Amino acid sequence: MAEATVPHGRATQKEPAVKEVHVLWITAGLSCDGDSVSVTAASQPSIEDIVMGAIPGLPKVHLHNPVLAYEVGDDFMKYWYLADEDRLGAPFVLVIEGSVPNEEIKSEGYWAALGTDKRTGQPITTCEWIDRLAPKAFAVVAAGTCATYGGIHAMAGNPTGCMGLADYLGWKWRSKAGLPIVNVPGCPVQPDNMTETLLYLLYHAAGLAPIIPLDDQLRPTWLFGKTVHEGCDRAGYYEQADFANEYGSPKCLVRIGCWGPVVNCNVTKRGWMAGIGGCPNVGGICIGCTMPGFPDKFMPFMDEPPGASVSSMLIGMYGRLIRRLRGITNTTVNKETKWRHRGRELTTGYHPTSYGPNGSALASRTPAPTEGRQPAADRR
Ligand code: SF4
Ligand code: SF4
Ligand code: SF4
Repeated sequence: MAEATVPHGRATQKEPAVKEVHVLWITAGLSCDGDSVSVTAASQPSIEDIVMGAIPGLPKVHLHNPVLAYEVGDDFMKYWYLADEDRLGAPFVLVIEGSVPNEEIKSEGYWAALGTDKRTGQPITTCEWIDRLAPKAFAVVAAGTCATYGGIHAMAGNPTGCMGLADYLGWKWRSKAGLPIVNVPGCPVQPDNMTETLLYLLYHAAGLAPIIPLDDQLRPTWLFGKTVHEGCDRAGYYEQADFANEYGSPKCLVRIGCWGPVVNCNVTKRGWMAGIGGCPNVGGICIGCTMPGFPDKFMPFMDEPPGASVSSMLIGMYGRLIRRLRGITNTTVNKETKWRHRGRELTTGYHPTSYGPNGSALASRTPAPTEGRQPAADRR
């Protein structure tokens, strides 16, 4: 009878390969903390589900993020020093938020730092933390476009010479577990994209998931394999060459600056919070914030993208014709058929059937009226 008291599934559940994992999340790149704020809106899974043990199979997760932590000062920093000294007692995932400045281009001062070196009393630069912790981490994740590719801080003319994490560590860099850097771009990162990627890596640490699939820009393939356009609620307008000329229109936004057709991002499918939102779906042009070329290659933001004038002109010829034909068909199928009426006369085309002496059907069958059906050619 002892088995009867074991909750369903628990008896066969595989134990994680490690009991605990720490997540050390540095927001001290050149950053606005927007990615840490963004993940508070995650629900698939939520940060709370990850750290409170609500997800089956996960090791116990300890999150150390300065924006989200209860601890401050030494109480917060002690985990960083323990990780540096290899005394955490559990594997850790290192998350970098914000672009990585080039500390080599100046003779004094520093661009970004976190905590203090106990020996010297000097700030520990973000670059030094990366140098110290990345080789010891189970996995290294760049959160947001600043950390992945440099982002806004790495625009032309910037004084810091900043870059993405892979530019700093090397694109072929591997963690001690053999994992490449994992890039989760977005400005800010889409909340569920970030927590789902963390979840995947935690499952991998637990021995319950294979190596994470990444594209050549080190993005999770299942999250960034499609374009904004391919998931956009307005794609039907694009295909019919029905373009908005001003904000507030429900039509396709390509003429007023949307880069969706050439941008890898899933927010038009996934939404932003709890499935709701996703830039063009709710009226905002896509400015390519997930892309390695962001922002320089997408500016000025409000102009029609260069390739869009050609593609929208070509789609225009096809789209206007198709829209007209569909309009005709739509008008037809929006009317009821004529035989639905009151009166003593039956006009449906029905003809009674009579039977011969041996029961075989004799009557000819009159074809049903075709009035009201749209021509096959218009059903496109
Ligand atoms: Fe802020 Fe955007 Fe940079 Fe994230 S990627 S730190 S949200 S500017
Ligand atoms: Fe494509 Fe943008 Fe138009 Fe949506 S609004 S259909 S993403 S061009
Ligand atoms: Fe960024 Fe475009 Fe995705 Fe919006 S739709 S999050 S602007 S890449």
